[in-house]
Amino acid sequence: MLLALALPAHAGLCESGRQQSPVDIVAPQRHTMPTLRFDYRAGPARVQHDGHTVRLRVAAGSRLLIGGQPYALQQLHFHLPGGDRLRGEDFPMAMHLLHKSRSGQLLALVLWFRLGAEHPALARLLPELPAQGEAERRLALDAAALLPGERGYFAYTGSLTAPPCTEGVQWLLAQQPQTLSAAQLQRLASLIAPNARAPQPLNGRAVRESL
Ligand SMILES: [Zn+2]
Repeated sequence: MLLALALPAHAGLCESGRQQSPVDIVAPQRHTMPTLRFDYRAGPARVQHDGHTVRLRVAAGSRLLIGGQPYALQQLHFHLPGGDRLRGEDFPMAMHLLHKSRSGQLLALVLWFRLGAEHPALARLLPELPAQGEAERRLALDAAALLPGERGYFAYTGSLTAPPCTEGVQWLLAQQPQTLSAAQLQRLASLIAPNARAPQPLNGRAVRESL
């Protein structure tokens, strides 16, 4: 779900799509929504710098259950700045956790980070991330330790944020931003150049907010 850098002339949905990501969440509508249950397992991950971001591919077995429907966690990666905004706030960093259902439905979970106190799970993770051009590494990942304490979320229907900008992706955004320290953000900025796509128009889409 990465960025569009240089779009070719035939970029298609990236230019003409009406349900694109990211967005600015300005007036979410409160609804009763299914609860999120995280069944994430600590385990090995393969981590690689792909030139745009650092991506961690997780071992099978971690799932997000939404109203009983399982979505398998596949990979997570970093965006600087955060991409999706909240009432205009542009977060310095966001993580995208990408999931897929058995039927192939893609679901992205966004975790927002503001500047503040050091994040303990990132403190363990960041020193192990490779720079561009370095070989893939293996590390132990506890994805559950990256989640905020609260389970409230926003939801909207969007797209991949990089070409081909395919639509029909479910986006969930944890309502509770977490913090990372200035040193942690600096560490990420030393690895990853700004890689967030600009917010896209909602074009009448509703953003729902869990009660
Ligand atoms: Zn992404």
